[in-house]
Amino acid sequence: MTVQPALFLSHGSPTLPLDDVPARDFLRGLGGKLERPDAIVAVSAHWETDVPTLNAVAQNETIHDFYGFPPALYALEYPAPGAPDLAETVADLIGEAGLRARIDTVRGLDHGAWVPLMLMWPGHDIPVLQLSIQSRLGPGHHVQLGRAIAALRERNILVMASGSFTHNLRALTRQGPVGGEPEWVTRFADWMHAAIAEGRTCDLVSYRNMAPFARENHPTDEHLLPLYVAIGAAGAGPLRAERLHTSTTLGALRMDAYAFH
Ligand code: ZN
Repeated sequence: MTVQPALFLSHGSPTLPLDDVPARDFLRGLGGKLERPDAIVAVSAHWETDVPTLNAVAQNETIHDFYGFPPALYALEYPAPGAPDLAETVADLIGEAGLRARIDTVRGLDHGAWVPLMLMWPGHDIPVLQLSIQSRLGPGHHVQLGRAIAALRERNILVMASGSFTHNLRALTRQGPVGGEPEWVTRFADWMHAAIAEGRTCDLVSYRNMAPFARENHPTDEHLLPLYVAIGAAGAGPLRAERLHTSTTLGALRMDAYAFH
């Protein structure tokens, strides 16, 4: 029986499907490298709610939740089927872990979910449901949330958490800064990678106090919180992490990706 990994992916700019960059090619190749899941639970930095919420729809709408981008981007659609029955199951798992959960019967997929999915499985034929994040509750809550749904992986369901390894939009440039990636990005990413590789979950939860240049790389938490859901979904016991990809786009946006086994 297939046990799916829990993934953390960096989704980058909404234009990623149109940009000729290594992270796009990595995601294009990733779908074929994974065992095909029966369904996907997508966690995106772009759906923030007070209480963990699951979308239960027959068919997902493609939400173009960005402004001022090229028209070609608004024409992209990812009409994947939903998984309303699975949404109920996941809500129950979250409830059993002592957290509240809600169902949303309207919402589709935001670009944090559909951008990587479109590259990984362009056929949009795997059912997808989305699980929201709670940005005010911090990393520890998201490890707990991930742990609540870890058992899904044994049912051939992929947990795909999508955010950004670094995310300071004010620092981004099209050309990249002269001299390459700034030191404050490299030092933060190196610290995070070492903590992930060594399974230091407690240090990771305290990244705001422990990681160098945490505030510069994440002025707010929301793009890193999906990482903690993936770490939680790896289950209890020592963290087994595999770095799938590392690259930098737009000067300071790290596109690193991990699988947790
Ligand atoms: Zn984003």
